[in-house]
Amino acid sequence: MMPKLVQDFIPKSNGNRPGFAMTPEYITVHETGNRSAGANAEMHGRFIKNPSTAASWHITVDDGDVAIQHLPFNENGWHCGDGRDGTGNRKSIGIEICVNSDGDFEKAKQNAAFIIRDLMDRFNIPMSKVVQHWDWSRKNCPQNIRANEGFPAFKQRIPASVNAAPTKPAAKPAPKPSGKSIDQLADEVIAGKHGTGDARKKSLGSQFAAVQARVNEKLGAKPKPAAKTNAQLAQEVIDGKWGNNPQRNQRLNSAGHNASAVQAEVNRILGGGKSTASNRKSIDQLAREVINGKWGNNPQRSQRLKAAGYDANAVQRRVNQLL
Ligand SMILES: [Zn+2]
Repeated sequence: MMPKLVQDFIPKSNGNRPGFAMTPEYITVHETGNRSAGANAEMHGRFIKNPSTAASWHITVDDGDVAIQHLPFNENGWHCGDGRDGTGNRKSIGIEICVNSDGDFEKAKQNAAFIIRDLMDRFNIPMSKVVQHWDWSRKNCPQNIRANEGFPAFKQRIPASVNAAPTKPAAKPAPKPSGKSIDQLADEVIAGKHGTGDARKKSLGSQFAAVQARVNEKLGAKPKPAAKTNAQLAQEVIDGKWGNNPQRNQRLNSAGHNASAVQAEVNRILGGGKSTASNRKSIDQLAREVINGKWGNNPQRSQRLKAAGYDANAVQRRVNQLL
């Protein structure tokens, strides 16, 4: 059934109501691209009247009984992306179909088809001039229609008269069980042979759920990263990725590593030997090593000192004194 078209025009003072005179020659089909719950025609009717909204179009249609007209049909809107003087922007009526997740997209498409028929009749627009946003500027819009049924199939929905029954595109016959294994079909899905979304459901028919589960398994079955070695972990400690102690040891242990083994490796890499009180270096020794370049430059130097369990600030103060 033809939805009722309610006029709620964009204020003339808005920047998105350019007001160029138009004789409609085309109808351009869009999708709002807004999947949010509640992003229906009424919501877009409010949005488009906001002075900060840049785009404009003529009609928003959702799954309800009422579609909203935002501009008179003898004025242009900005919805085609083909420029100020583009044929799309200056000679086409723009229709946005809502894709809100709490709406019935199938019904919204049927409603749009009726409105398109009505406009074709009113302005003597032929089917060849019912086009998609993509035709004007290669934007992937109307996105779901393009990805699933395709725009030519969508146009098959446009009834011969506004009084006709809703039309569905000719459904492809559901495939019979093909003799292929679930595994083979899953590989075909991954190779893109069964499309996406509704097209994939149609293509796989009763096997859809089983095949999809296998696809998910295959795509999710990435090999686990190999466990890190203490040498790798030590380098990460030196690079500062594990912070400083005592939190560093806690983090390492809670991640399932052996913090004391990692610390020993850090000390070995940094030349500190075993981290025992007996061979701890004095601040003075360390400062001289720093001056001799043994600990590199900052900010890595200070991180290395901290990683080795020393007080980098104290060492730096001593370096400054010595210099
Ligand atoms: Zn669009």
